[in-house]
Amino acid sequence: MIKTRFAPSPTGYLHVGSLRTALYCYLFAKKNKGKFILRIEDTDQERFVEGAVENLLSTLSWVGLNYDEGLMEDGKEVGENGPYIQSKRKNIHLENAQKLIDSGHAYRCFCSKERLTKMREIQAKNKQAPMYDRKCLDLPESEINAKLSSGEPYVIRQRMPYDSIRFKDIIRGNMQFDGKTIDDQILVKSDGFPTYHLANVVDDHLMEITHVIRGEEWLPSTPKHIALYQAFGWDVPEFAHLPLLLNPDKTKLSKRQGHVAVEEYIKEGYLKEAVINFVAFLGWNPGSGEQREIFTLKELEKIFELKKVHKSGAVFNIEKLDWFNWQWHKKKFNEEMTVLAKELDKNVEITNRGFDFSNQEAEEAFLLKKGKKLKKYAAGFIPKEYENTPELLTRALSMLDEKILKNKKETAKNLAFFFNYPEYSKELLTNKKMKVDLNQAYISLSESLKDIKKIEDWTLQNLKESLFETVKRLDVKNGQVFWPLRAALSGMQFSPGVFETAWALGKEESLSRIAQALKKLQ
Ligand code: GLU
Repeated sequence: MIKTRFAPSPTGYLHVGSLRTALYCYLFAKKNKGKFILRIEDTDQERFVEGAVENLLSTLSWVGLNYDEGLMEDGKEVGENGPYIQSKRKNIHLENAQKLIDSGHAYRCFCSKERLTKMREIQAKNKQAPMYDRKCLDLPESEINAKLSSGEPYVIRQRMPYDSIRFKDIIRGNMQFDGKTIDDQILVKSDGFPTYHLANVVDDHLMEITHVIRGEEWLPSTPKHIALYQAFGWDVPEFAHLPLLLNPDKTKLSKRQGHVAVEEYIKEGYLKEAVINFVAFLGWNPGSGEQREIFTLKELEKIFELKKVHKSGAVFNIEKLDWFNWQWHKKKFNEEMTVLAKELDKNVEITNRGFDFSNQEAEEAFLLKKGKKLKKYAAGFIPKEYENTPELLTRALSMLDEKILKNKKETAKNLAFFFNYPEYSKELLTNKKMKVDLNQAYISLSESLKDIKKIEDWTLQNLKESLFETVKRLDVKNGQVFWPLRAALSGMQFSPGVFETAWALGKEESLSRIAQALKKLQ
């Protein structure tokens, strides 16, 4: 069975790059009906950060990446291959280090810090790569025992085979490393703690990991790991090294150019669906001519392929994240509105323009509920004074869904024309393409004013009927009436439609705005 693992070191927060690693591990396991494991790699005691593990678990749970084995949010561990917290596995690591000493693949090194520093200085002077010179490799048994009983500190080093090491990375293809350049790495530090290299290999083996999927920064460590698997006589897992995440200027993704912690995006209110969707596309896409970009986690589980991950660095583009967020907000909002529309009107027709209601009560009720929903969504971005006319506010909001879902921070700007009579020049009332000159604008406005003045019940339906009547009587195209009227009501080149705007503004305000437009034309 395919088994993958996400093995974060709890150093504070979940980096977006780590989230991508976790996501790809998860998706690859799901796609192949395998298992996904979470292992906390906390052997580096110096890097321990209070609360980091809890934070990591809650962030993973927020995005919905459930694992089959590992440490759960309630502190319990699930799975048969635990413990899943590396520091609790120290004895297992040390037993295995002893096995390597016994089989001649590792040795104790008693060299002092001073000696090692001196050795490196000489190597640097001679332009040699820094490598341990194996002074302690063949110490006689008696000397080792004497040093051990006198309590001399030591580390355990792996005896590297010095052969060339090859492997096939699923993403990067054939890799080859010259064994002679690989240092006799430390497996157990002088404080008695295993290093990442030893712990990682032992744990991956014992947890039966078949595919090691991780960031490209671990590629140089992979030959060391392979040598360890071979020294133990264990099967070597498959490796897939994911490309780096880059800033738009192609430098390595850094805090300086934006957030790198997933929590920051959560705090800013990004939808988890958008974050997952965006992160999935950092260095991968379904390919094969697939144009679609919006996928749920469930859908990604079916289509994800590790082979299709790109080799080159993936640019982290915040505009793209915003785009995904907008698309997801729209998708979720539309789904909710569809349910609402059907609830209010069994016979509503759903077209690609929106909803065609069978009766106007349902339509108005729908718009008001929609407006209230958007009011909640944009809370904090609506000027206080607009709240004094709640009916106008709700109606106005109901027609600004596209804009508000795209960027709620601009809600005040988008609402402004409903609340303050806008400045504009009379040319706005004309439209060459629609054959509306100043004269036509005057006729259209004065005739429609006459008609809508007669409306007693200011409903959308009555507005529509009345204004189509004006068009018919004047024997002109719709646009020749609707353009100047919409411009007069909104004072803007682009705005919501004429009926909705008039409906939202109410009778008195609409009539007054048309009258002011007529004044400009006189
Ligand atoms: N603990 C390592 C990290 O935080 C894991 C590397 C690996 O997946 O082997 O990146």
